[in-house]
Amino acid sequence: MQLALRDGGGAFAALEHTRPAAYLGSLADTLPALKLVPGKPAKALVTIIQDPLCWAEQDCPPTLHEAADSWTYLTSLTTFNRMKKNKINKHIFKGLCAASDLDVGSSSQPLRPSLQHLHCVAGKQPQRALSYVILDDLRASIVSDRQHLCLHARVRIAAASLTGAGRFMITLPASRKSELLLTPEQYTDNVHLRFGLGLTRRIHDEGCSCNCGKKPADFVFVQEFFDHVMSCHKTRGMKLKRHNLILPILSTFFTEQGYEWDTSSA
Ligand SMILES: [Zn+2]
Repeated sequence: MQLALRDGGGAFAALEHTRPAAYLGSLADTLPALKLVPGKPAKALVTIIQDPLCWAEQDCPPTLHEAADSWTYLTSLTTFNRMKKNKINKHIFKGLCAASDLDVGSSSQPLRPSLQHLHCVAGKQPQRALSYVILDDLRASIVSDRQHLCLHARVRIAAASLTGAGRFMITLPASRKSELLLTPEQYTDNVHLRFGLGLTRRIHDEGCSCNCGKKPADFVFVQEFFDHVMSCHKTRGMKLKRHNLILPILSTFFTEQGYEWDTSSA
């Protein structure tokens, strides 16, 4: 659920996880204005703000100290450098390097992002780019957790992260084309299917069981129950039955496409 939609999740990342990205990004957005605060009392602070390399020092204000900590944390993640290959966020990486398009394309001169250039990304949605760094790291750690993540979970993540698989979750209703609308029930079913939940509204509630007696609740994922039913020695012939049941369902589609579709049982 915490993974991004494109990674097969529900985009419900814990705010505590993304806090360093939100804080640093927000500070970046306000830096240009902070540097313009007039008057003598503000002068000392403006001097510190203009020198981000001193933010990590103990005598710096806690607000700036925390920004330096957030920067250290974000740049320690292996996913930070991936930002430069992300077509949506690479301009942030470029800004943090204070580089031009030409520099980014050059391999002879490796670019080094620096906290000194934080002001360069003000107003360019740095929160989003920096959050991606954390979410990418989260995804890498979840997917690589082979000890706790069962095969079905890994397969589900792979399927749910395919291009467009989660698009229904962020698409606005198409009111002019009623055939494209999802009813609340259909939407709920889609969410259940995406996350491997019970889908109890439909067929596999507690009244549903395999011929051997196993129920959906005996498995971690609903898909595991389906897989079991299709291969259980007590349900021989299920594959053929499924084949025969699906023939008339596909018939309309293939007939419309111009095919002759034989719906007689195999
Ligand atoms: Zn069985």
